[in-house]
Amino acid sequence: MTFGSREFDELPVRDELRGKSPYGAPQLDVPVQLNTNENPYPLPEPLVERIAERVREAARGLNRYPDRDAVELRTELARYLTRTGKHPLTAANVWAANGSNEVIQQLLQTFGGPGRTAIGFEPSYSMHGLIARGTGTGWLSGPRNEDFTIDVEAARKALAEHRPDVVFITSPNNPTGTAVDAGTVLALYEAAQAARPSLVVVDEAYVEFSHRDSLLPLIEGRPRLVVSRTMSKAFGAAGLRLGYLAAHPAVVDAVQLVRLPYHLSAVTQATALAALEHTDTLLGYVETLKAERDRLVGELRAIGYEVTESDANFVQFGRFEDSHAAWQRILDRGVLIRDNGVPGWLRVTAGTPSENDAFLDAVRDLKKEQR
Ligand code: PMP
Repeated sequence: MTFGSREFDELPVRDELRGKSPYGAPQLDVPVQLNTNENPYPLPEPLVERIAERVREAARGLNRYPDRDAVELRTELARYLTRTGKHPLTAANVWAANGSNEVIQQLLQTFGGPGRTAIGFEPSYSMHGLIARGTGTGWLSGPRNEDFTIDVEAARKALAEHRPDVVFITSPNNPTGTAVDAGTVLALYEAAQAARPSLVVVDEAYVEFSHRDSLLPLIEGRPRLVVSRTMSKAFGAAGLRLGYLAAHPAVVDAVQLVRLPYHLSAVTQATALAALEHTDTLLGYVETLKAERDRLVGELRAIGYEVTESDANFVQFGRFEDSHAAWQRILDRGVLIRDNGVPGWLRVTAGTPSENDAFLDAVRDLKKEQR
C-alpha cells in the first residue's frame, strides 16, 4: 500500500477522499474463515457443469457486446422474486449489476450526488456511507436503539430535520442481524416523503435467511421504494458478483442514465442464469445455514455471551471490554471472524457445522480465560 507515501500525497486525489481507508475485511489464510458473511457451501457439481456449458455457449459470442439490458437474466430474477417474494414482478421491475454494491452505487449516482445527502441507521453496512462518499453524496448517520432495532421516533425526527434524498434501511441489518418490520419501513417511508420526495432503499442482501417475509410487496404503489438483493449470500455466489433491485419500472429507467453500457458481461449473465436454474438446491443450503445460525445463537448464549437476535447468516455477540483483543484471541485459535468496530461486539458468519464447532470451541476457551 502506498497510502501516506509522498507519491500518494502528491496525487491530485479528491479532497474528500484524502486520509480515508478503502473498505476491506482482512483476507487472511486461516483454517476457519467466518468473517465476510459468505456461504460456506461450494456450488454443487451439477451446477458447476451447467455453468461451464452456459459459459462455453457465451464464449462463442464474446466478439460481440453482451445484451446491454440483460433481459433474459432480469426475467429469471423477476420469476425468482415472484415465486419467493409473494409479489408478482416482471423484468421491467428488475435491474441487475455487478453485486448489490454496484446497484447501490448506481442508485446513489442517480438519486444522490453533489449537494445531496443519504442517511443510514448505524451501525449498519458501512459501504452505504462509503459509496455515498465515492459518488459525492453527503452522508448522515441515523440512530438505533440499544438493542439495535431502529428507533422509529428518533428516525422520524432525523428525516424531518435533515431531509435526506436517499434513505437506507438494511433488513436484516449487517452487522447486527436485526430484521426491520413492514410497519417501521412504512413509517420511515412516509416520514421521508413528508420531508421531500426521496428514494428509500431497503437493502435485503440477507433476506433469504430471515424468519420474516421479504418487504418486496411494499414496492406496490410506492414508486420511490426500492428493494436491493444479491446472489452473493443465499445463492452462494459471492465470486459471481451479481446483485439486483426490484422497484417500479420508472426506477429501472432512471438508473439507465448512469449505468455503464454493457456493464454486465456475457459470462456473468450466463453464470447467473445457470445458478437460477438451481435455485431450489441452493435454497436447501440456506435452510441448513438458518439451522446453524440458530444453533450458534443458542450455544453462544449457553456459554454466557450476549447475542443480538439474528435474521441473517451471521450472529453478533458480546460483550467485550476490548472487542479487538477478543477478535485477536479467536484468530490466534485459527478462527477468523469480524470486528466491525461496534464497541463491545463481534460478528461471526454461520459456516459449516464443523467450522461452527471450531468457532464455538474457541469462544468457550476465551470465556474461560476471562473468568
Ligand atoms: N448489502 C449488505 C447489507 C451487505 O452486507 C453486502 C455484502 N457484505 C452487500 C450489500 C453487498 O453485497 P454484494 O455486492 O456482494 O452483492
